[in-house]
Amino acid sequence: MNLISKEILVKGLVQGVGFRPFIYRLAHANNLLGTVENNNLGVRIVIQGKENDIINFIEVLPSSIPEASHINQLEVKTINPNKFSDFSIIKSKSLSQEVTEVSPDIAVCINCLEDMEKQSNRINYAFTNCTNCGPRFTIIKDLPYDRPKTTMAPFIMCNECQQEYSNILDRRFHAQPVACSNCGPHYKLIYKDKEFQKIEDILIITSKLIQENKILAIKGLGGFHLACNPFDNETVKKLRLKKNREGKPLALMFSNIKEVQKYLYVNEEEKRLLEDWRRPIVLLKTKEQISEQLSLGLDKLGIMLPYMPFHYLLFKKLKIPALVLTSGNLSDEPIIIDNDVAIKSLDIIADASIIYNREIHNRTDDSVAFVANNKSRIIRRSRSYAPSPIHTNFNTEGIFAAGAELVNCFGIGKGSQIILSQHIGDLKNMETFEFYKESIQRFSNLFRFKPDMVVSDLHPEYLSSKYSDSLNIKSIKVQHHHAHIASCMVENNLDEKVIGISLDGTGYGTDGNIWGGEILVCNLEDFERFNHFEYIKQPGGDAANHHPWRMLLSYLIHYFGSSFINENKNLFDDINNDEISLVSTMIEKDLNCPLTSSAGRLFDAVSALLGVCKNSTYHAEAPMRLEALARKSNTKSKYTFKIDQDISFKSCFEEMIVDLKNNREVSDIAKAFHNTIIDLTKEVSLLIRSKYSINKVALSGGSFQNKILLENCENTLKESGFEVFSQSDIPSNDGGIALGQIAIAAKLRELGRL
Ligand code: ZN
Ligand code: ZN
Ligand code: FE
Repeated sequence: MNLISKEILVKGLVQGVGFRPFIYRLAHANNLLGTVENNNLGVRIVIQGKENDIINFIEVLPSSIPEASHINQLEVKTINPNKFSDFSIIKSKSLSQEVTEVSPDIAVCINCLEDMEKQSNRINYAFTNCTNCGPRFTIIKDLPYDRPKTTMAPFIMCNECQQEYSNILDRRFHAQPVACSNCGPHYKLIYKDKEFQKIEDILIITSKLIQENKILAIKGLGGFHLACNPFDNETVKKLRLKKNREGKPLALMFSNIKEVQKYLYVNEEEKRLLEDWRRPIVLLKTKEQISEQLSLGLDKLGIMLPYMPFHYLLFKKLKIPALVLTSGNLSDEPIIIDNDVAIKSLDIIADASIIYNREIHNRTDDSVAFVANNKSRIIRRSRSYAPSPIHTNFNTEGIFAAGAELVNCFGIGKGSQIILSQHIGDLKNMETFEFYKESIQRFSNLFRFKPDMVVSDLHPEYLSSKYSDSLNIKSIKVQHHHAHIASCMVENNLDEKVIGISLDGTGYGTDGNIWGGEILVCNLEDFERFNHFEYIKQPGGDAANHHPWRMLLSYLIHYFGSSFINENKNLFDDINNDEISLVSTMIEKDLNCPLTSSAGRLFDAVSALLGVCKNSTYHAEAPMRLEALARKSNTKSKYTFKIDQDISFKSCFEEMIVDLKNNREVSDIAKAFHNTIIDLTKEVSLLIRSKYSINKVALSGGSFQNKILLENCENTLKESGFEVFSQSDIPSNDGGIALGQIAIAAKLRELGRL
């Protein structure tokens, strides 16, 4: 008999996701012999058998891969190996192997959901999982990824589970968290000093409580959630108030996609993203049916689909199609993971708690994404995304990146990979800073990482920078907006000179001023600040972030003088007169008024000018409201600006004020302002192209979370013949800074410039 042998190289997301057992089973089903192993590039398969079987194997492979895996490339070549006597999984010889073994958490799969209806030891068992699904990063304490090194360690497998675990042909072969109702963890409901242990009771009581408009604390995958009925305005309001989150919309979980579509607009890519195994919260445009109490003046709401077995079980009982499901924490603190802490501290918010007896080791928040120009854009990278590595063409080994401050996320370099931490949060919050330091320790242990170089933000006051300085190892500082653009470049595999347009709220500049409307000409190793938004005084420094009207006042005084304010008091009609004169004095006498070129502050000022948001209750509220308002308009009109030594918006403000006086629709003014910024990115890019012949534009910075801005900047620049790069898998906000920091440090080291 004539045996044929082939070598198949599979690249993509293929490690730590049950890929090798899958290949084993597929080979077995096709009567093939050979081997499968992980290597640095992905998975290497050698198969030997009859021609038809081999053809079938190669044909079936791509369409039946485990859900959490993804194939980027599949190379097949004919080889001439020895004869095999069986098909086996062989241990990899490569050193960096251990790095890629930490898989992110995976939403429960269809097969497991079916098992929960059919398998006698898994009927309604809420911890059902297999090699294709279940908890990973959240339960792992150390490598190699084996059960004793996870928080499943205290649970001894029963015989049935053990059999599945050891049978290579079983879907649960080597599924470390494998469990059933006889041997695994269990939920418990605590309500008014009573405890309920039976899952059926828990589900009935829980759904009853939610329908009775109670608030519940529910232990999730990466931390606690607070849940309530989204269709009762009073309850939603109460939860928001108690959570100290008055102005900000809360995320919802819907029972299924059909229900989502009744309340929100969902396009194809958004649907794909909602149903992705990572199950992020997806920002979707609301339909009329969504109450104002949920959307709070914005036109978007964060929506997710069930991802834990418990979610599915609960929706089977619930008579409402959605739940508010927001992170279980008090205002800015990290999400709570500990049962006792949750019961104690969420007590003031929740009427009942649902806990389970498996520990969460690594805290993760729900990840958040939106879709722009048909591409998903992650803006909070946590559950099910971290700690997936980012592959680079550099040697990143030993580089620790401290990240930024407000939306912190740190990173480590391993081999040629960069591993970003899960979303950490605002380091100014003490508990969050503790979480930061603890996570750095955990990453160091988990990934056998010892830093020999640390890279941090130029900002001397960032806690992440101070922490880096305290490490007493070789340290380099990177300018914030250079890091933003570098982050975008690494994600897009760029290592050359580009036009970098970095628009955001705050970043420390090389001149000590607050930057944020930055037009750079840069590569990874260096940047030139080609131009920037005009410097404006930021009265009170950071305090101005909460009071957009202060920036309006500052812009108006800067361009038109103090007398203009007296003649146009109506622009500040809901602001106290004393406050106006106090802040005016600060501006005139230059007291505590750092200079800023921030794009975020410009959006703040315009938002205040249009009466959209004069005081903000949460980060970026004013620009978000301005964007929502602009979406109501289709106007193509735009205002003027002047590109000179810097970029001046004087004429833009003049024209907006005339429009306001002529009672032009504010939505049209908001949109025209957006169009102005979009036009500006094009004009300045054209200038750079004519001067430097650079045709690639990288867009990054928190302002590109603005969908109007991102989509239209991309489109307009493309129409002008530019190649445009933006962020998708990595946040364009400060959560992406660590990636850029490592890339810059790695490049400088490669060039011998450190
Ligand atoms: Zn499964
Ligand atoms: Zn069992
Ligand atoms: Fe930033």
